[in-house]
Amino acid sequence: MFDAIQIDKSEEGQSVTLTQVSPDALPEGDVLVDVAYSTLNYKDALAITGASPVVRSFPMVPGIDFSGIVAESAHPDFKAGDRVVLNGWGVGEKHWGGLAGQARVKGDWLVPLPDGISLKQAMAIGTAGYTAMLCVMALDRQGVTPEKGEIVVTGAAGGVGSVAVALLAKRGYQVAAVTGRTSETDYLTGLGASSIVDRAELSAPGRPLGKERWAGAVDVAGSTVLANVLAAIKYRGAVAACGLAAGMDLPASVAPFILRGVTLVGVDSVMCPREERMEAWRLLAEELDLDKLDSMITEVPMDKVIETAPLFLEGKIRGRIVVPVAPDLA
Ligand code: NDP
Repeated sequence: MFDAIQIDKSEEGQSVTLTQVSPDALPEGDVLVDVAYSTLNYKDALAITGASPVVRSFPMVPGIDFSGIVAESAHPDFKAGDRVVLNGWGVGEKHWGGLAGQARVKGDWLVPLPDGISLKQAMAIGTAGYTAMLCVMALDRQGVTPEKGEIVVTGAAGGVGSVAVALLAKRGYQVAAVTGRTSETDYLTGLGASSIVDRAELSAPGRPLGKERWAGAVDVAGSTVLANVLAAIKYRGAVAACGLAAGMDLPASVAPFILRGVTLVGVDSVMCPREERMEAWRLLAEELDLDKLDSMITEVPMDKVIETAPLFLEGKIRGRIVVPVAPDLA
């Protein structure tokens, strides 16, 4: 038996408990992993609080991420003892996830953990950090180089935002960090932000086109914030949009696209093809400054996961939450 967070649903509604689960109850899969670390992302908070219908079947073990050691494998690419990381693929939504002592998954979903990243660092990065790298890769593909000008990152003090700021700064970009918490200015400049923008500047409906301020953007907010970011992107710039922290709508006009040739690139981490996620993890191992990553981490033990989740929805989480499930495995 091992510890697991479990979400159940009945006529009275959703309930979440820290419970004991038998390995026999695990779903099908060709690889069994002993989970060392998991993490909390915004989506895990939606699942645990029930604020959004993220979970598709019950009972469900949440946790869209985990890192751990392969215990048993019938998959040709993995053997017992391998260090692996998993992000997405519907794990923690429709297939039992990482907030448990063990997980049984498809080997095709696993990425071998690159040398130089510990099991704990893998979850400090987590889906948030891997998505931040997908956003940076998307801007790079659009030709947004550091000489083109400053990049704006919204939700900068959150998980995706923090890693995006650190990665962009490391690549030599000037980074404008948008935050609703200007009290986090020292944290953000420590990650490499060159300027801080008060979120209030971007939260009210604005004009279809504004002053050209930024060469590119990583946006976790959506809604009016994304509309205002688009209106302030320089000629032929690009915006990587991955989140909805401000809302799922997009009250924008086509003006930035047809008058400035701006590109809006959608970024999805969940079903991202294996080759691209391997590349993202390779680049994270190569480029992410691990001291900066350390400054983002708050550890939350399994018995505090349920009470921590609502803090995401209140915008109170700074950086990344790491959940040590069985840290002695590392
Ligand atoms: P966090 O909660 O860690 O960060 C979100 C940040 O957004 C907050 O810390 C806050 O930063 C900012 N924020 C909160 N409310 C608002 C608001 N009303 N308007 C503008 N900004 C706001 O979450 P994550 O970093 O884990 O995820 C961020 C978003 O990205 C989520 O919407 C998540 O669902 C999405 N996501 C999408 C993925 C994909 O595959 N497409 C993968 C991973 C995440 P501050 O206080 O600095 O302003």
